[in-house]
Amino acid sequence: MSAEATNFASPPRVLTKFLQLYLPLAVIVLFAAVMVYLTQKNTRIQAIKEQQYNIVRLEREVLQTDLQTHVSDAVFLAHLTTLAMNRPDGQVPLKKVLQEAFLYFSQSQKVYDQVRFLDVHGREVVRINLDKGRAWVVGQRQLQSKKQRYYVSAGLQMNPGQVYISPFDLNIEHGQLEMPYKPTLRFVSPVANPGDGLLGVVVLNFLGDRILDRLRRASRAGKNELFLVNQKGWWLVGPKPKMEWGHSIKERAVFSMAAAYQQAWRDIAPEENGQVVTPHGLFTYQSVDLMDKAQKVGTSLAPTRLDDHWWIISRVPPEELALPWLPEMFWVCAGVLLLLAGVVWLYATARVRREMAESETQRQQRRLQFITNTSQDAITLVDSQDRVQFWNLAAERLFGYRREEAMGHSLHQMLASPEQRAKANKGLEVFARTGQGPIFGSRQEVLATRKDGSRFPAEVSASAFSMDGQWFAAGSVRDITISKQNEQELKRLANTDGLTGVYNRRRFMELAEREVTRSLRYRGPLSLIMLDVDHFKAVNDENGHEVGDEVLVSLAKVCCRVLRQVDLFGRVGGEEFMALLPETGPEAAATVAERLRSELAGYPVSPSKPNLRVSISLGVAGLNQDMGLNDLMRAADDALYLAKKHGRNRVEFAQH
Ligand code: GH3
Ligand code: MG
Ligand code: MG
Repeated sequence: MSAEATNFASPPRVLTKFLQLYLPLAVIVLFAAVMVYLTQKNTRIQAIKEQQYNIVRLEREVLQTDLQTHVSDAVFLAHLTTLAMNRPDGQVPLKKVLQEAFLYFSQSQKVYDQVRFLDVHGREVVRINLDKGRAWVVGQRQLQSKKQRYYVSAGLQMNPGQVYISPFDLNIEHGQLEMPYKPTLRFVSPVANPGDGLLGVVVLNFLGDRILDRLRRASRAGKNELFLVNQKGWWLVGPKPKMEWGHSIKERAVFSMAAAYQQAWRDIAPEENGQVVTPHGLFTYQSVDLMDKAQKVGTSLAPTRLDDHWWIISRVPPEELALPWLPEMFWVCAGVLLLLAGVVWLYATARVRREMAESETQRQQRRLQFITNTSQDAITLVDSQDRVQFWNLAAERLFGYRREEAMGHSLHQMLASPEQRAKANKGLEVFARTGQGPIFGSRQEVLATRKDGSRFPAEVSASAFSMDGQWFAAGSVRDITISKQNEQELKRLANTDGLTGVYNRRRFMELAEREVTRSLRYRGPLSLIMLDVDHFKAVNDENGHEVGDEVLVSLAKVCCRVLRQVDLFGRVGGEEFMALLPETGPEAAATVAERLRSELAGYPVSPSKPNLRVSISLGVAGLNQDMGLNDLMRAADDALYLAKKHGRNRVEFAQH
């Protein structure tokens, strides 16, 4: 594969890899972000809840204490009235004194729009009005009958010492809502007649704006809104002034806590206090008790005339509950995801590239394996410690070791014969250090050892290379058993005579030359016998050429039997042979020649012509120091010529 192909990571693969890696990471990051967000939000909400709880509790306590003060005022004035109106000495009631006391009380408190004493028929007896901070006594003629007003009958149903608190509403004068609206809360306490029953009731018209304004101010100060809601859910302090007093002003009857915050109201209405989170925010509420249960008992008031509690409610809008750093967190999260995407993309690209390179390497390895397995030669690789790292199929066949067995095995154990091993080990040391060795760059024949211990001739060629700072040798080993055999056969064919199997002329001359040289150097005796079949032409003519051949074969056989192992014997012409006898003088050679002659004379030389006998003539010559092989041969030839001349079937010496 080209370099381009290995370096180019295809976009779809990178994208797939990217998504595989990125999506889980992105999910983890998002999950962590959501967890952080939720935890932080929860912590924040808890803190806000606690803070709101404290605010509402404080407001409730202030309000409750405030109301308690007015309750005490009403009880105190009722008792004062009893004392003033019912003098034990039977004197004229001290109405004037009562007027003075009420006036003084109203002037000093400055919170009661009206301070009144009404008799049991609902007629005003004493009435102090407060006008722009100044208290004044309402004259006899302006006094009204309040018999119809519910609070009178409610007060008359109370026991002395108890106080009826009217629902918080707007003041009505002469049957009309007083303008501007005057939020009024009436504290009504019965005035006891020590003798029997009641003398009437004391009514304090409390100017409710005081407590309402305080709540409004507190509401404006914080991030929360503070509401005051009566038992039926009408706003006393609402989100907007225009939404307040829905229970008193007809056109505002659509506004109520229940209508504005339905979900929250469902939670609040049945409870005294608590907190609830709705889509409209966090609502924290506590009830303000107006009448205890004991007071309610025995009254026959319509439910509309009786509030036993209100709620102080704070609302923290949802945007205040949200974490202030949410946008920053979003951007940080987006930044992290983007950065992560970049890093993962780079990683995915590198990873895909590596995978492609790896698969390319695998392909190359498969190709290499295929190629090497196709080879008939063993192909192996060894590291600098001579441990096999690669072993092809041919190597398995050749050495008998399977790949798994061969891996890590020493190659020299297989290639070097035991005698050569010490030398081979030394060579290995040099190779490990230098990457050099006699084997590299040439072919060497060795006697390799198989797993079963058998040995075979092999030709080894190898080359060295360095990888990761270590030397390796790659080599091929070829079994040359057959070529060796062929070579030997060729050699044999080249050196021997095809018919008789003895040395041919060329080989005989070659070996004879060596013997002559050696004899001359060591001055040892050496003799040559030259022999020729007598009248061989006639043998051929009379018996056929095949019989002639048989004769030659028999002749060689007889000669070989008679001659010693060390003697050289060869066919040097058609029916001419030579025998070279080392360490043999001419006399001894003549004896051998004579033996050859006589042995052959009686020998049945042709199996197909059992009666056929042939004779040979022989010339013998001994080597002198001044002679060469040619001289020796000439001398022997001369002697043979003499033998022929002297009648054949005989031995002659060289004449010199
Ligand atoms: P002489 O006693 O003088 O040696 O007589 P001769 O007939 O042996 O001598 P000549 O040299 O005239 O003949 C040699 C014959 O040997 C001629 C040839 O046909 C025969 N001859 C040579 N080589 C072979 C061979 O390989 N096979 C056979 N059958 N005959 C051969
Ligand atoms: Mg001849
Ligand atoms: Mg002859």
